[in-house]
Amino acid sequence: MASLERTPPDALERQEAGAILVDVRDAHERALGTARGARGIARAELEADPRAAFPDPDTELLLICQSGRRSAFVVEALRAQGYRNVTSVNGGTAAQAAAGLPMDTPDLDDDFSERYSRHLRLPEVGLAGQKRLEAATVLVVGAGGLGSPVAYYLAAAGVGTLRIADDDVVDRSNLQRQILHVDARIGAPKVESARVTLTALNPRTRIEPIAERVTSANVERLLEGVDVVVDGADNFAARYLLNDACVKLAKPLVYGAVHRFDGQVGVFDAGRRRGEAPCYRCLFPEPPPPEAAPNCAEAGVLGVVPGIIGLLQATETIKLILGIGEPLTGRLLHVDALGLRFRETKLSPDPDCPVCPPARDFPGYIDYARFCAGG
Ligand SMILES: [Zn+2]
Repeated sequence: MASLERTPPDALERQEAGAILVDVRDAHERALGTARGARGIARAELEADPRAAFPDPDTELLLICQSGRRSAFVVEALRAQGYRNVTSVNGGTAAQAAAGLPMDTPDLDDDFSERYSRHLRLPEVGLAGQKRLEAATVLVVGAGGLGSPVAYYLAAAGVGTLRIADDDVVDRSNLQRQILHVDARIGAPKVESARVTLTALNPRTRIEPIAERVTSANVERLLEGVDVVVDGADNFAARYLLNDACVKLAKPLVYGAVHRFDGQVGVFDAGRRRGEAPCYRCLFPEPPPPEAAPNCAEAGVLGVVPGIIGLLQATETIKLILGIGEPLTGRLLHVDALGLRFRETKLSPDPDCPVCPPARDFPGYIDYARFCAGG
C-alpha cells in the first residue's frame, strides 16, 4: 500500500501533475492563509459526504490541515469510504509555509497575525472579527479607575480607535487603581498619560485624547462615529448625560460604577432597541441625593474593584462589537468583592421613562450637574 503521507514538496509536485489539494481546516483558519490552489472543505463536511465534492473515488486527493494531524485522520476516513488515492501533506500548512512553498495568504502583516493570533484561532473572532475590532471606534469617558482597565484591554484586543475623554490630571492618589498612569506622570493630563501607555502597548490602536469633561455642549461631538460608549466616569451627572445622548443617538452604553468593595455593571441599549431594552433612567429615574452617593474620593474604594468592573465593561464592549454571546442588556450585575459574589437583577424598559419609550421625542439635555445635586 502506498504511503499515506507526502512531504510538502512531493505534494506540490503531485498537485502540479493534476492531483487536487484540499484544505480540511475550518473556514476561519483557512482565512489566514492556505497552500496555493487548495480547495477549502472543512473536515466534518468532507467526511460526512465526500462524494458530493468528489464523485469518483479514484480521484487523486492531497489533504492538508495546519500540522498534518487532522488531515491524516481524514485520509483514514476517506480510505474507509473507498477513496484509494488519497494522502495527507506531512506537517501541514505550517510546514508548507516554513519550506517557502507557494501560499495564498490574505494581505496581513506579520504584526497583525502575531499580535492577534490567539483571537484569530477563535472561530467566534477569527479574521473577520479581528477586522471588525480594528474598524471599531469606542468612546471611553474617564481615564481613571474604570477607564484604565477598559482602555488597556480594548487597546490590547485591537480596537482600532479609542477616543478617551477626561479633563483631569494624574494625582498620586490615583495610582492605587488607575493603572494607565505611572508615578513619573503625576501632574500630567490623564488623557495624555493614557495615550503614552496605550500606544506603547499597541501602536496599531489610534488614541484620540480629549482633555475635556463630557457636557451637554460636547457630548454629541464625542459620540460622533462611535460604535460603543463606555461610561468610566463614575459620577451621576456624566451617567445621566451619557444615557440620554446614547438613547438619542442610538448607541449602546456600557455602564459601570464602584463603591468601596462593591461594583455594578450593565449594558443599556435602549437607543437601538426602543421599548425592548431599558435605559439607565428606566432603572433610576432620579439620582440619589448627593450625601447618599459619595464618590471614591470621599468613600474610598478597594483598588482592584474598578479593575474587576472595568474588565467586565471591556468584555461587554468587545462582545457588542463582535456581535457574539449574550450581552448584559436588561440585566444589572452586582459584584460584592468581599464575599466574592455576583448577583444579577433583571431590568425592564419603563413605559413612563422620560427619554426612551418608542414614541417619545427626545426631551432635550438638561442641567445634569444641577439635577444630580438635587437642585
Ligand atoms: Zn428609559
